[in-house]
Amino acid sequence: MDCPRCKLALVPDTYEGVAVDLCRECWGVWLDTGELETILEAQEIQFSPEEKKLVLEGRRARIHASHTPVACPKCSVRMERLFLDAEVYLVIDRCPRHGIWLDTGEIKAIQAMAEASQTVSRLLVRKIQGRT
Ligand SMILES: [Zn+2]
Ligand SMILES: [Zn+2]
Repeated sequence: MDCPRCKLALVPDTYEGVAVDLCRECWGVWLDTGELETILEAQEIQFSPEEKKLVLEGRRARIHASHTPVACPKCSVRMERLFLDAEVYLVIDRCPRHGIWLDTGEIKAIQAMAEASQTVSRLLVRKIQGRT
């Protein structure tokens, strides 16, 4: 499986005990369907208030960063763009059949948002699963 942005082979890695596929070039990660939920449930990373502020402010600063659509690394179909705006503006790429692509920093931003409250966490998971 190749990185949808760099086209380089993704390498197996683990994040919070979950097997993910990482791109060593852009540090994006591919998560199969259901893996993000597992990561959010594990929530082993506990952000200090300072870290959380940095993560969230980092995302705010990148609001206008360009975000081009990418193709699913598994089926090559152009992925849907999912807007998550609970606390910060995030655009996530999702293939309804295979999973989600997270650009560098996005996984931490999601965790920081999810850690903020259980309600936000559930909301994010529902959105990512395509349920409203
Ligand atoms: Zn890449
Ligand atoms: Zn796909």
